[in-house]
Amino acid sequence: MIDTVYFEEDASNYSATNQIRLALPDANWIPIDRFQEIFNIRTQNFRIQKKNPALIIAKKHDNFVLPAPSGFGMGSDQNFYFSHMYNCLYDCGYCFLQGMYSSANYVLFVNYEDFFEAISETIHLHKNETQTYYSGYDCDSLAFDKISHFSGYMLNFFQNFPEVEVELRTKSIVISSLLMRNPIKNCVIAFSLSPDSIAKKLDNKAPSIRRRIKAIKELSEKGWPIGLRLDPLIYTHDWKLKYSDLISDLMKQVDLCNIHSVSYGLLRFPKRMYKKISNLHSETGLFAFPMEENKDLISYSEEIENDMYSFIQKKLRAYLPEIKIFHCSN
Ligand code: SF4
Repeated sequence: MIDTVYFEEDASNYSATNQIRLALPDANWIPIDRFQEIFNIRTQNFRIQKKNPALIIAKKHDNFVLPAPSGFGMGSDQNFYFSHMYNCLYDCGYCFLQGMYSSANYVLFVNYEDFFEAISETIHLHKNETQTYYSGYDCDSLAFDKISHFSGYMLNFFQNFPEVEVELRTKSIVISSLLMRNPIKNCVIAFSLSPDSIAKKLDNKAPSIRRRIKAIKELSEKGWPIGLRLDPLIYTHDWKLKYSDLISDLMKQVDLCNIHSVSYGLLRFPKRMYKKISNLHSETGLFAFPMEENKDLISYSEEIENDMYSFIQKKLRAYLPEIKIFHCSN
């Protein structure tokens, strides 16, 4: 439970802030001028702070919508992402956020309408091209939803733009708000998945794979388009068996017609973050296996990459047409 909430005074009158006041009445609410004065303190220790993060409620002023990194898309001409939140309830051993931020506190930008205004301008600007918008790049899209209620606002917005797609990427099973409404065909609920034994070791605090698959099944039966994200692919001595079991389990349980897309990508880290993340999680064994530098990324060797990619592609092609399978490299 969150027991400290810092709030920018500029952000205190938004409806999301009022909803959070109701959800966290016993927290200590502390006014601040700008979120950076708490979030950017240099001497913070991410691991210590992760044990009991505070929530920082802020107003975002620019960069509401940004081009997605190359290699991130699912076939659209234009790909964008937006981040209404920094940091995550979960604590995955490979999460790049811990290399990006010195603070584990959650920052929530509550001026949701400003995001939607910027997104509608971007949609208009690229109206002659196919477009996908990604939520959940700097956080998990649904994990904080009981407090932020962001997904409801977002889906209300995107259902008015059926010509573009939006993806909510998550490991959360907080899906009741989705099950209560009719599915929106241009809104893809995308779950990040690993084989169960790998998730048990690395996806700290996140729901088990069994519970994620159950949530996927429920959403799919309701008619929501489902994304399956096998990303990052993690190498172990028996990875073929593990990924083979995961893929066949998923394909057995989920109606293939409701699978919008499956993507996969190797475990990889931006070079500038690798050292910090590997120091924070030296106990997991994840970093014991030698990795190589390739341009600005650190990842497995080309031999492992080719082996994993061809195996995963082959497995997926047994169930799905090529057009639904994507390789993510960034
Ligand atoms: S769910 Fe995603 S954002 Fe959250 S800790 Fe895990 S990798 Fe990071």
